[in-house]
Parts: sequence; C-alpha cells; structure tokens
Amino acid sequence: MTEQSSRAREVILERARGAFLGVAIGDALGATTEFMTPAEIAHRYGVHRKIIGGGWLGLKAGQVTDDTEMSLRIARAIEEAGTWDLTGIADQFVAWMRGKPVDIGATVRKGIRDYMLNGTIQRPQNDWDAGNGAVMRMAPVALYTLGDEDLFRRCTLEQAHLTHHHPLSDAACLTAGQMVQKALLGADRFELHGETQQLCSEFPTFRFSTYRGRASGYVVETMQTVFHYLFTTATFEDCLIGVVNQGGDADTTGAIAGMIAGAFYGPASIPARWLKQLDRTTRMEVEEKAKKLTLLSPLAQQGF
Ligand SMILES: [Mg+2]
Repeated sequence: MTEQSSRAREVILERARGAFLGVAIGDALGATTEFMTPAEIAHRYGVHRKIIGGGWLGLKAGQVTDDTEMSLRIARAIEEAGTWDLTGIADQFVAWMRGKPVDIGATVRKGIRDYMLNGTIQRPQNDWDAGNGAVMRMAPVALYTLGDEDLFRRCTLEQAHLTHHHPLSDAACLTAGQMVQKALLGADRFELHGETQQLCSEFPTFRFSTYRGRASGYVVETMQTVFHYLFTTATFEDCLIGVVNQGGDADTTGAIAGMIAGAFYGPASIPARWLKQLDRTTRMEVEEKAKKLTLLSPLAQQGF
C-alpha cells in the first residue's frame, strides 16, 4: 500500500467514525427537546446546547434512543454474518424490541411485530409509512456498502422495508445514505447540496429553500430540517444546535443531521464536551462498529 492510499484510507475511516458518532451525539442531544416547540425550548433553555438527558423519556445525560440502538443492531447483524443479512437484521430488531427499549416508533413496532408473527421481511407499500424511522438508521448501511452503488441501493431499500415502505421514505433513505458516502469520499458542500437538488427535482415536496420550521417525524419535514441547518451553518456544532432547537422529532433530526455532518466535518469537529457526555458503552460501540463496517465495504475489500 502506498503512503498516499494509506492516508486516504485513514481519512475515510475517520469520517466513518464521525458519521456513526454523529448519530449517537445528535440522538442524545436532541432527545431533550423532542416534542417541544422552538418557543418552549427557548423559554426553558435559551439555546439548548448541552447533552443533559431528560426530555419526555426522562433519559440520563448521554443516553441514546431507538435511532442509535437500531443503527447498532443493523451493524451487529452485518458484523456477525460478515455480510449483508436481512433476516439477521430483523432478528436483531426483534431482540431489541424484546429488551423493552426506552422508545420505539409505532411504524417500527408494527413492522417488527409483522416479522415476528408472519415472517414478513418486506412490508407492502403503505401510505402510513412516510415517517423518518428508516432514514435514522442509514449510517451502518452507508458505511458497509461504500464503493458499490447497486449493493448500496439494495441494502438501503431492504433495511427500510422491514418497517417502512413508502416512496418518500425510500427517496430520503437513498439521499441521506448517498450524502454520507459522498462526504466520506471527500465531497464538498456543493456536491452534497447537489444530492438534495436531485431529490427535490424528483420529489418537489422536499424543497427546503424556504424553510417552514417544521421538524416532525414526517420524513419530508425531517429532511427539510436537516438540509436547512446543514447548508446554513459552517460547523458540526452549529448544525446540530440548529436542528435540535427546532424541537419536534429532535432526537431523529439530530441523529440524521449528525450522521451527515459527522461524515462531512469529521470526528475532530465534534465538541469534546459532547463526546465526554455521551454514554461510554455506546460511544465505544459506535466507534468500533464504524471501523468494522467500513473495513467490510467493497471499497475496503478492493484496498481502498
Ligand atoms: Mg429516538
């Protein structure tokens, strides 16, 4: 391996670590303001910028929720099989649900139950499935499929359809995953913006040039919030603070923004005080899984 390619490899592994850490940081930071309005947040916190737990789930400081937990479950299934294993992922989701997670979305619960009862591995397309629950767990898919577009597309849709099957969710999953992969490979913000423009030309409902301040769990509003703050800020910290102070589904908008911004800005851009507050076991596992998944990717298999 030349010195240059080993350097490129290190940069990609670092950005991958940033992406998975970003999920957990955004989740832990945003959980405090989930379901609050921006006015309620401003009244209570001024600007919410510390990982302090609490929120409607009464979390410990640094504790994460379903966004990070389900991402880790996908990562564990891939690692255990050494390859893409959809049944393994579904089984991991079942084990996770049986462990009584601190939070679980209604659509996710329905999808996992359907797998348990009927072995359904692909939900039928459904008008109710336009939530953000499949996008929030895209980090492991983006890392594992790096370097193979067909594999990326197949794995993205397969993992999404375990619980969510809707064209808007599919499109958001593909776009978010592609943004992470482009960022890992060194894309600049114009290239990332280009990905969003492609999404908006196919599905104009995602347009975010005039941001309406809605940050619900509806995948369109979730992605508009993420995109708005990603492109109107210049640091990981400002992006995440903007997103979580918008309230609504703040842990999930935080996790998705953290995933893209973490890949783009890299882990060194994540404030040390946030990393310190993040639950230690979670932090160690996301860092470990980020490396393992990236090393399993087609790009790594080809020697980066
Ligand atoms: Mg959550």
